Amino acid sequence: MSEWIERESKYLFQNYGRQPIVLERGEGSCVWDSEGNEYLDFVGGLAVTSLGHSHPAVTAAAEVQSQRLIHVSNLYYTTPMIELAELLVENSPLDRVFFCNSGAEAIEAAIKVARRYGYDERDGKYGIIAMQDGFHGRSLGALAATGTTRYREPFEPMPSGFNHVPWNDIDALQAATDENTIAVLLEPIQGEGGVNVPGPGYLQAVRKWCDDKGLLLILDEIQAGIGRTGTLWAHEQDGIEPDIMCVAKGLAGGFPIGAVLARDALAGHLVPGDHGTTFGANPVATAAGVAVLRYIFENDILTATRRASERLVMRLRQMEDALPAVTEVRGRGLLLALSLSSEVAPRVVTLCRERGLLVNNVRPDRIRLMPALIVEDDEIDRACDILEEAIRLATS
Ligand SMILES: *Cc1c(COP(=O)(O)O)cnc(C)c1O
Repeated sequence: MSEWIERESKYLFQNYGRQPIVLERGEGSCVWDSEGNEYLDFVGGLAVTSLGHSHPAVTAAAEVQSQRLIHVSNLYYTTPMIELAELLVENSPLDRVFFCNSGAEAIEAAIKVARRYGYDERDGKYGIIAMQDGFHGRSLGALAATGTTRYREPFEPMPSGFNHVPWNDIDALQAATDENTIAVLLEPIQGEGGVNVPGPGYLQAVRKWCDDKGLLLILDEIQAGIGRTGTLWAHEQDGIEPDIMCVAKGLAGGFPIGAVLARDALAGHLVPGDHGTTFGANPVATAAGVAVLRYIFENDILTATRRASERLVMRLRQMEDALPAVTEVRGRGLLLALSLSSEVAPRVVTLCRERGLLVNNVRPDRIRLMPALIVEDDEIDRACDILEEAIRLATS
């Protein structure tokens, strides 16, 4: 293992803080490193491996499609993208889909749709209000929308037209709205920002404000969507509908993909020549996406996810009661986090890994848990036993 890690340090950009294990193989909720050690994976590739590792439905779809056709570009029609777009549209409040390859790209496209609409129909308005602690990706437009100053500052100047208001504060949003505002962009649950759930009525108030002022509501469901919170879309639980929605992470079970969904009237503002991407709507990625969504619907995975969530939350609450170091259980569905302290949380990540459980830190003081949507009861139990022991050890 250490030989690979040495070679990595010689040849790759050193822009990630990687955990010191080399992962070679995965199945369901488990992964194995190059020395044969097994880990329960409660990171889930950062909410990407929605059906676990190498799910047979996903590998079969990708295998069949890659033998048939891997890539031709958007100069031509291919069938998997049409099937996936149909599934997304028929199972969301929106009408049309644009495919790309990552979350950041989906955000870029959503920004361009909003700006094009402003340019065509709203006297050139282009301002977008986003949230403090919101996360939208690392490309410059997505970064400009991201609400963490520390991520943006070293790369300034940012594209203009973005400002940030505190999350869960409707008054701040209203005060920040001006004659140039065209859209509000936010996550239905903030993921990277620390697993921050909207307060009661907050998203409804945002929706109402957008309606009153003629603003577009862009929801970033890149982390929270595709069943992660126990409903296909996180926004369903708040009783609202977006005008534009970005999807990515869990959509293709591990294959790189992103998608923007929009109302018909908005999608129509992007005309040939306005936007595109060579790899977007890739047949293998979109075939994998079709397999993921069909599997979720045909096997009632959303119900299984809600049950798994109940079990996991119950165990986490028991830890909260038993262990003074645990100050809070956060999140919905299988997008969960434990609040600890910034001294303890990184140690817990290491102690868990050494005991065969992968979890990750969001913010210095929180541990995030995002297992596969199909995680099994005994895997939840084993993970919680390890997590509890790790927290005890880290605080003793
Ligand atoms: C991960 C994430 C992104 C960025 O996606 P990438 O695929 O890393 O570009 C954007 N928004 C949210 C909410 C995310 O969690």
